[in-house]
Amino acid sequence: IFGTIPEAPPDAILGLNTQYRSDPSPNKVNLGVGAYRTADGQPYVLPVVRRVEQALADDPSTTHEYLPQDGLKEFCNLSASLILGAHSPAFADRRSVTVQALSGTGALRVGFTFVARFLSPQTAVYIPKPSWSNHKNVVVQSGLPPAKEYRYFDYGTGAVDINGMVEDLTAAPAGSIVVLHGCAHNPTGADPSHEQWERVLQVVQEGGLVPFFDNAYQGFASGSLEEDAWSVRRFVDAGIDMLVGQSYAKNMGLYGERVGALTVVSSEGGNNEAILSQLKAIIRAMYSNPPKHGAMVAAAILGHAGMFAEWEEELRKMADRIRDMRQKLRGALVKNGTPGNWDHIVNQIGMFSFTGLTAAQVELMKNKYHIYMTSNGRISMAGLTEDTVEYVADAMKDAVVS
Ligand code: PMP
Repeated sequence: IFGTIPEAPPDAILGLNTQYRSDPSPNKVNLGVGAYRTADGQPYVLPVVRRVEQALADDPSTTHEYLPQDGLKEFCNLSASLILGAHSPAFADRRSVTVQALSGTGALRVGFTFVARFLSPQTAVYIPKPSWSNHKNVVVQSGLPPAKEYRYFDYGTGAVDINGMVEDLTAAPAGSIVVLHGCAHNPTGADPSHEQWERVLQVVQEGGLVPFFDNAYQGFASGSLEEDAWSVRRFVDAGIDMLVGQSYAKNMGLYGERVGALTVVSSEGGNNEAILSQLKAIIRAMYSNPPKHGAMVAAAILGHAGMFAEWEEELRKMADRIRDMRQKLRGALVKNGTPGNWDHIVNQIGMFSFTGLTAAQVELMKNKYHIYMTSNGRISMAGLTEDTVEYVADAMKDAVVS
């Protein structure tokens, strides 16, 4: 019965990791997966996270009882405040419902299933071109038609193609979902300015579109949790219907613990209980209830002023190391005389740099130098260290001139 099942194509990002692990070269460098690495190239557990975990382990009242379908209430409330702002009109008007989710991907998956079930299974979803490669998978797996793309990035200027974006969204039918990266757009590292966000908000409002904000990097773009929530808060202030996904993978380093949240914001209050009941019903059938450990850790940090401040400081340090690597990579490319202009490496924000390397150049980097990155030329800046940055720059020069 199972013998004729065809093999699924490898995942664009996770497949790279597998290749990297099986490469025996001592010079190998992994710039593929977006996970923070220290200056020594090691995974990082934030000290404040470690302390909370220790305290939980030592506390005899900690149990492994199930959470309800919608997760840890305190975590959900704190999470919604983090992204919407403690004084959001959505709270004052009781227009928001938040459930815990299996990190950012889980928030998208539950959110799109909710859309398929309660908007329409034919709802059109628009994602930026390019976008995080998993967006299109999640849309289809949730029972919606394949995602359509809107113009987002101008390859000539390295900035957001705001006119193309507005034009494409203007043509989208009312009721369509528009996936928007709240900040630190993956993979381009190019975000709309505040003025450009205003134009996007205007077409969304005029066209009756429903934004689905995906926030995987709050705190990683500017180094400020508040500033990075600007776009989401601006749209919530406008009083429209929207969905908001959050992930604590990158900003709290809780990757494998799968800590995230989904918030449904309504333009009018009054139906929160029904919305929550349906989200719980979706979750019940999908995985029953979310994991507890990471949510307890995140809630402890989000709910304690001292630990929150420590977390912010850690975030700033991670964002600073990434910015430092941007400077060093650009500096090394200028120094070794790699043809082209590399200013975009320092101008882009967030975890990634969209280098502009072609798929063929990416292949050469992998085959000749054992340097791994996604085929669209995206590199994870946190994968670079003082020790590897010149090696990578020299390999880039070879790839560009060959
Ligand atoms: N959205 C975007 C844009 C991302 O870059 C990522 C992580 N790479 C995610 C969502 C989800 O990640 P996770 O499920 O690990 O939180």
